[in-house]
Amino acid sequence: MNGFIKSIPEGVKLVAVSKTHSSEVILQAYNKGLRIFGENKPQELVKKYSELPKDIEWHFIGHLQTNKIKYIAPFVNFIHSVDSPKLLAAINKEAAKQNRIIKCLLQLHIAMEETKFGFTINELQEYLSTKEFLKYPFVKIVGLMGIATFTDNVSQIRSEFHALRKTFYTLKETVFAGDLDFCELSIGMSNDYKIAISEGSTIIRIGSLIFGERNYSK
Ligand SMILES: *Cc1c(COP(=O)(O)O)cnc(C)c1O
Repeated sequence: MNGFIKSIPEGVKLVAVSKTHSSEVILQAYNKGLRIFGENKPQELVKKYSELPKDIEWHFIGHLQTNKIKYIAPFVNFIHSVDSPKLLAAINKEAAKQNRIIKCLLQLHIAMEETKFGFTINELQEYLSTKEFLKYPFVKIVGLMGIATFTDNVSQIRSEFHALRKTFYTLKETVFAGDLDFCELSIGMSNDYKIAISEGSTIIRIGSLIFGERNYSK
């Protein structure tokens, strides 16, 4: 793990994806110096938040139902997986109740698989051009997130990340011109993070490479 962490270029943030792993296992990683962890189930995240040190930065990375936002709104730092206008509005509402600003990334659907969530590039551009998000003072849109197709085909993965990056820069020059907070590109997981970094990733989300294979039957 340490060799891997040293290999991450400066300017790329590591989210240690701890879903399915116990608080004990997370604490071991914390004691080795990791402070940013990612989870994809609200209840699981709430339990771990209550059990673990309070200087951990928590990133929510999974599909989020609007009725579950209230559980994580009091403490979550980033939500990577905002995949609809409705969800963004609902996050703003729950964050307002907590009087906190939650950093959000908009998820783009870049993969071949239909099962993955997210805006298409056209949907995203259409939505952002309405500037509706400017009415939400309790969410701050800080960038884009994407999950590449699960494949060994490197050029396929690269072209998906590339499309996302292109959209990111287009938005940076238009809708988010002058907004220095719009700066994050959350791409790259254990099997494709090197490609993601070469395509400009600023946040990699790494699970199995840090914690080993996940056991979903536990
Ligand atoms: C599980 C998960 C990861 C981490 O996956 P690994 O392949 O274990 O690195 C990253 N991003 C999201 C959205 C995930 O759900």
